[in-house]
Amino acid sequence: MVTTAKLHSTLKEYFGYEKFRPLQEKIASSILSGNDNLVIMPTGGGKSICFQLPALLFKGITLVISPLIALMKDQVDGLNANGIPSAYLNSSQSAEENFEIINKLKKGEIKLLYLAPESLAILETLLQEIEISCIAIDEAHCISSWGHDFRPAYTQLGFLKKRLPNTPIVALTATADKATREDIASQLNLVNPNKHIASFDRPNISLEVRAAQDRVKQIIDFIQQKPNESGIVYCLSRKATEQVASSLTKKGIPAKAYHAGINHEERSKIQEDFIYDKSQIICATIAFGMGIDKSNIRWVIHYNLPKNLEGYYQEIGRAGRDGLKAKTILFYSYADVIQLQKFADSSGNKEVQLSKLERMQQYTEALSCRRKVLLSYFGELVEEDCMNCDVCKNPPAFFDGTIIAQKILSGIFRLQEKEPLGTLVDFLRGSQNASIYDKGFQQLKTYGVARDISWRDLQQYVIQLINLGYCEIAFHENNALKLTEFSKKVLFDKEKVRLTTVVDKPSKKAKTTKSSTSVANNSLFERLRLLRLQLAQEKGIPAYLVFGDAALKQMEKERPMSDEDFLAIDGVGKKKFEDYGYVFIKEIIAFQKEKVVVKKKKKTNKVNTIEVTYDLYKKGFSAEDIANERKLSLATIQNHYTKLYQEGYEINLHEFISKKELDLIKEAKIKLDNSNSLKAYYDYFEEAVPYDILKFGLTMLHKKK
Ligand code: ADP
Ligand code: MG
Repeated sequence: MVTTAKLHSTLKEYFGYEKFRPLQEKIASSILSGNDNLVIMPTGGGKSICFQLPALLFKGITLVISPLIALMKDQVDGLNANGIPSAYLNSSQSAEENFEIINKLKKGEIKLLYLAPESLAILETLLQEIEISCIAIDEAHCISSWGHDFRPAYTQLGFLKKRLPNTPIVALTATADKATREDIASQLNLVNPNKHIASFDRPNISLEVRAAQDRVKQIIDFIQQKPNESGIVYCLSRKATEQVASSLTKKGIPAKAYHAGINHEERSKIQEDFIYDKSQIICATIAFGMGIDKSNIRWVIHYNLPKNLEGYYQEIGRAGRDGLKAKTILFYSYADVIQLQKFADSSGNKEVQLSKLERMQQYTEALSCRRKVLLSYFGELVEEDCMNCDVCKNPPAFFDGTIIAQKILSGIFRLQEKEPLGTLVDFLRGSQNASIYDKGFQQLKTYGVARDISWRDLQQYVIQLINLGYCEIAFHENNALKLTEFSKKVLFDKEKVRLTTVVDKPSKKAKTTKSSTSVANNSLFERLRLLRLQLAQEKGIPAYLVFGDAALKQMEKERPMSDEDFLAIDGVGKKKFEDYGYVFIKEIIAFQKEKVVVKKKKKTNKVNTIEVTYDLYKKGFSAEDIANERKLSLATIQNHYTKLYQEGYEINLHEFISKKELDLIKEAKIKLDNSNSLKAYYDYFEEAVPYDILKFGLTMLHKKK
C-alpha cells in the first residue's frame, strides 16, 4: 500500500505541485493497487499525472500507448525535464537511438516508455527481458469507431490484457459519450475497471459569443489588448485562415496560417514555433492543436461556427490548461450555419450532423448561463450559474416582441414561404433592391412594415423566432423560411412573444495599446517569461516545459528570493529547482533591486546610510565590523540588514539564523497570534533567543507571506 503522504511527497518532488487536482489521487491509488481503470477527464484536466505518478512508485516500467509522435515527444521531454527518466520508441528514430533505449530499458534505467500502437510488435521481443508494471492507454477513444479520432491500430490493443493478464491497465480519454466509453472498456478487455468520470467544467475558461459583424476588427482589438499572449483563431476554411492571418499581420500582429494544404514540413515548423513560444498566434483549421499539450494558450477564438459542441469544447479546451484564466470568443453568423448545413448534406449520417449543428446553434442563442448549456450537453447538471460567460455577466433584456413577431410571420406568409431570411428582411424593411423588385414583392401586403428596425436587428429577431420554434428553415428548398404550428398561435391567437434586445457588444477600444504593451514588458512576469524562453531555446525544449505560466505568475506575486521560498512555488520540483532555481532567483533579485533603485532615484540623491552598509556587506564585512567602521551600534546595522532584505536586496539572512531557529519562531508566531512585539517573543523563548535573531526571523517570515 502506498500512503497518501508518499503520493503527495512524490507529487511535489517530481512535478512540483502542492495539491492533486480532482480525482488524480484516487486514480493513482487505484492503479497502484493493481486495478484496471477507465478515466474520463476533460482536456487539460490533468490525466497524465494519473499514470505518471504511479509509474514512479512501481518497480518496473510503465508502458504508455499514445497516438501521435508529437504528443509522445512533448510528454517525454516534459518528464525528463522533471527528472523522470523516460523515452519513446517510434519510426522517426534511428536504429542506433532505438538500440540505446532498449539497452536502458533492460538495465531498468527508464520508468516510462511511450509507444505508438503501430510499434507494438517491438514489445514482444522485449517482454522476456523487461518488467512491465502498468500499461496506460492515452487518448483511448481512438480505439472506438464511435469516437471522433478513430485509429485502426488501436484496435489491436486488446491483446495486451491477454498477454499480460496481471498488469493493471488504465485507459484515459476526454471523450465522454457513453458508447465510446463502453467500447473502450470492452475492446481493451479491462477487468472490472474502476471508472472515474471527472467534471467537464473548466471554470477558468470564459465563454463568450459575439455576432460576426466586423469580426476581423473585433479580433484585432481583442489581441491588441493582450499582447504577448498565445492564442488560436479557428476557421472553417483554409482560405479564411490565410485571410485572417494576413489581416492580423498587416496590423502588426504576427500570425501564421495552418491548414492541411500547407506542406508537411512547413506545417510542423509552424506548430513547433508555436509550441516553443517563438510565435504567438495561429489561424488554423480545426485539426490544429490535436496532440499538443502547450499549457499557456491564453485565448481561443472561433472565427466560424464549429459544427458541433464536442468539437467546440475540445477546441476551447486547449486554452488555459495551466488552470489560469483563459478567454474564448465564438463569432456567430447565420451564413456559417448555412455553410455547415451544406457540408452535412454532402456526407454520410446527415441527420445526426444536422441535429448536432442545431444544438450548436442553440448554444450560441442561449439566453441563460452558457456553461450550463454546454455541461448539460455532456450530461452534467449544474445548479449555479457560472458568472464567467457573457450571458451571466450581461443577462439579456427581454421585451414584448409580439408585434414584431406578427410582422415577421405575416411576411413569411405573404412571401408564400418560399424566400430565405435575407429576402424576408429586405422585404419587411421595404428595400428596393433587385431581389424584391424582380419578383414584384413591393406590391405585396406587409412590404416595408418593419422599416423602423435596422437590418441587423431584424435579422436577429427572425433568428430568435426560429430558435423559439415560431418559424423554421427548409434546408432543401433553398433555405426558405416556413411557418410552423406555433406560428398560428401568434398570428391568430394573440400569443405573446418575448424577444431579447440585440445588444451591440461594445468592442472595447484598442486605445493606448502601446503603453499597455510597455507596462507588460516591464513586469516581472515578462522578464521571467523572456528568461524562460532563453533557457528553453538553449535546451531546445518548449518554454512551458521550463515552467508553466502559473508558476511564473506565482513567482511574480510572491517574489521568492531564497531557495526555500522558490521551492514552495507550485510547479517547482526537485529537478527543476536544481536546473533553474539559481537563475530565476537571480533574475527576481535583480528586478527587485532595479525597482528599489528607481524608487530611490526618485526620492533623494543623498547618500543612503543603508546602502553604505550594503556596500560594506557586499565587500564581506561582518555586521560587527560594519558597526565599528561606521561608528554605529550593532543594533542599527542589524536594522539595516532587515530593511535591505525587505527592500529586496541580495542579502542572506540565513547566515544569521538557522533553519531550526526560523521554524521555532514560526511556531511561536502562531502561538502568539502573529504578535508584532519583539518582547513577546523574547519572553516566549524565556530570553533564550536574542533580539536580533528574533528580528531576522520575523522579517523573513513576514516577507514570505
Ligand atoms: P490532459 O492530458 O488531461 O489534457 P495534462 O495531463 O496534459 O491534461 O495536464 C494539463 C496541465 O495541468 C499540465 O500543464 C499539467 O502540468 C497541469 N497539472 C496537472 N496536474 C496538476 C496539479 N495537481 N497541480 C497543478 N497543475 C497540474
Ligand atoms: Mg493528455
